[in-house]
Formats: sequence, structure tokens, C-alpha cells
Amino acid sequence: MCRDEVYGDWYRGCSVSHTSCLETYGTNSNLFSPTRLQHFVKSYYSGERIDCNSPTCGLSVAHVHTAPNCPCPKVATDERRIQSMFHKPCDDCRNAEFARRVGR
Ligand SMILES: [Zn+2]
Ligand SMILES: [Zn+2]
Ligand SMILES: [Zn+2]
Repeated sequence: MCRDEVYGDWYRGCSVSHTSCLETYGTNSNLFSPTRLQHFVKSYYSGERIDCNSPTCGLSVAHVHTAPNCPCPKVATDERRIQSMFHKPCDDCRNAEFARRVGR
């Protein structure tokens, strides 16, 4: 599967599961430490696509099918480029934590 290069920051002090930056680092980390999630917060896509050169990937230049409805996946995954690593929660987690403390 092809990958789109995306730049962003890692936050390693996250405490909340939420959808806007829901990117935990491995599924097992939750078992170890339920209160320490790691979120990758995307800043922007660079526009670079890393081609997987797979003939069964709908996005690759090596894709062999011409029919538009072939069963090959046509979505790219993210190739993360980490710009900064923070040992603190991301903004969304901080806000959620604050909202919880004030009882809302
Ligand atoms: Zn691909
Ligand atoms: Zn195909
Ligand atoms: Zn977070």
C-alpha cells in the first residue's frame, strides 16, 4: 500500500482517547499504561507519495488493472515524519483533561 508523507508532532503525555488525534503508538501500549497514550498530531501532508510498487495496489504506478472497479485498495496510509517529540499531552488532550477537572 502506498504511503503519503505527513509531517507532525508526537505527544507522549496524552491521557485521553479522542478522534481528532487518535493515533496510539502500538496497540499494546494501552495495556501497559492506560493513562499514557501517544498521539501523532498531523500538521500537513507534504504531497509526496511513496509508491509501494505493488501490482495489486490501486494507487501504485505498478498497478496492473485498468478496470476502475478492481478490488485493489485505493487508499494510502500515512508515512509519518516526526518534526518534534513532546513529553506532554497534545492540545486536545489538555483541553479534555481540563474539561474533566471542572466537571463538564
Ligand atoms: Zn501502494
Ligand atoms: Zn487493481
Ligand atoms: Zn492527545
